Amino acid sequence: MVTIKRVLIANRGEIARRIATALIEKGIVPVLPLTDKEYKQGVSIFKDCRIVRAPDNIYLDGQALVALAKSENCQAVHPGYGFLAENAKFAESCEQNGLIFIGPPAGSISLMGHKERAREIAKKANVSPVPGFSIDGLNPLEIKEMAEAVGFPVLVKASMGGGGKGMRRVDSPDALADAIRMSKSESAAYFGSEDVFVEKCIVKPRHIEIQIFSFPGGRTVYVGERECTIQRRHQKIIEESPSPVVNEKLRREMGEAAVRIADIVNYIGAGTVEFIVDENLNFYFLEMNTRIQVEHPVTEEVFGVDLVAWQIEEALGTVEAVPQKKIRGAGHAIEFRIYAEDPDQNFMPSPGKILLYREPSGPGIRVESAVATGSEIFADFDPMIAKVVVKGHSRQHALERAMLALENFVILGVTTNREFLMRILSHPAFRAGELDTSFIDRYREELKAADAPIEPEWLLLAAALRKTTGKPAQLPDSGDGAGFYYPPVNARIP
Ligand code: ADP
Repeated sequence: MVTIKRVLIANRGEIARRIATALIEKGIVPVLPLTDKEYKQGVSIFKDCRIVRAPDNIYLDGQALVALAKSENCQAVHPGYGFLAENAKFAESCEQNGLIFIGPPAGSISLMGHKERAREIAKKANVSPVPGFSIDGLNPLEIKEMAEAVGFPVLVKASMGGGGKGMRRVDSPDALADAIRMSKSESAAYFGSEDVFVEKCIVKPRHIEIQIFSFPGGRTVYVGERECTIQRRHQKIIEESPSPVVNEKLRREMGEAAVRIADIVNYIGAGTVEFIVDENLNFYFLEMNTRIQVEHPVTEEVFGVDLVAWQIEEALGTVEAVPQKKIRGAGHAIEFRIYAEDPDQNFMPSPGKILLYREPSGPGIRVESAVATGSEIFADFDPMIAKVVVKGHSRQHALERAMLALENFVILGVTTNREFLMRILSHPAFRAGELDTSFIDRYREELKAADAPIEPEWLLLAAALRKTTGKPAQLPDSGDGAGFYYPPVNARIP
């Protein structure tokens, strides 16, 4: 057993809150950097943590984070997701400085961090990656021929890529050379590497991923799948478990494939193996994420496990391996990512101050967030405000609870995708589980907003502002031409 009294959380927002709570449950003090501009809103949200003020770029500054962990007497570092979570050098630097990195060994991170290398590992584990090839050492003519053999459309992808960046779809051989050039320069700019490769573009695919956990001694289990097919700009916004199309047999096949991949790199802890699934339910290895995933709560709800607690226990040396046959799911869970973004403006982020914030609650509803009324959503971080996770005894039941939860989520002051998510939820194809990654594009017109009436919460807020400031409050344009509303001075404020 290892003694861990303090852990540095090298992250921010909802995942920092999630990790902090898991640490506190175990009697461990979370140490958390907060940048100057986040400090004011962060102190109350993280009041049960040791907070350290830090410069703006702290979450990407590995050296500063390690120095902070040491000066704060931390024994371990939890990287969360994003930022440095999949940076092998950071994991290594933690270990070199006597800090436990709560994640897999640096070696597994670096093997899986390069998508082309990861494809080779999948093959060794007897799992098919998406058909494709490395362009290394090939001349333009050879590349064209190989791409034709794979079959158009193809995707040019950045080997070090993430977040859908550096990825380009190519529909004809003539466009290939240009796409490769552009992908290379985008990849160099974002990821500091010009490595790109070509992959078959699977049409009407689903994105289905397997949660794995590797206990010490090479005992890896799979904890079901997550269907993450509803995406915008190649990024997930709704995730559910189980997938509407995965049956027992496919689950076992995909699960065992994921376990073989993890075992071949001597994986430790929580990880996710992502697959692309075609219309005939053939699955292909896409990549492995060597960290806790944004959508992990969906798995936790269905399987009754605490993945973050397992990660921490793993570091403490107290985790008890669970055999595969004891991993059993029940019911259905679904997660909605609420973003400060404008679905009508190509999902452009819409940072700003939240004037009123009220989370939904009730049976089967779990919200992960780190904001409150008055919090600001900053332009320079990911604009996710919260994750709404609902659990029901069936998919139908989960969808009903999801609608209730989304309806009762009040976020005023910034434009959000909340109503857009509700329109997806009501769409007959979504309700029928007929999904593929172009869902949002295909149904773009049907998913557009009708002119919405003013929400009652806006009226209350306007009344409250009028009462405190003595001035009439202007409401956002509701589309009916009125544009504003002056509540009476004596309006009752509940
Ligand atoms: P990133 O690491 O940048 O997120 P991924 O390889 O995980 O990139 O892919 C992100 C998303 O892009 C997938 O979930 C899927 O929607 C789409 N995608 C990736 N590869 C393919 C493919 N070969 N065919 C069809 N869609 C793909």
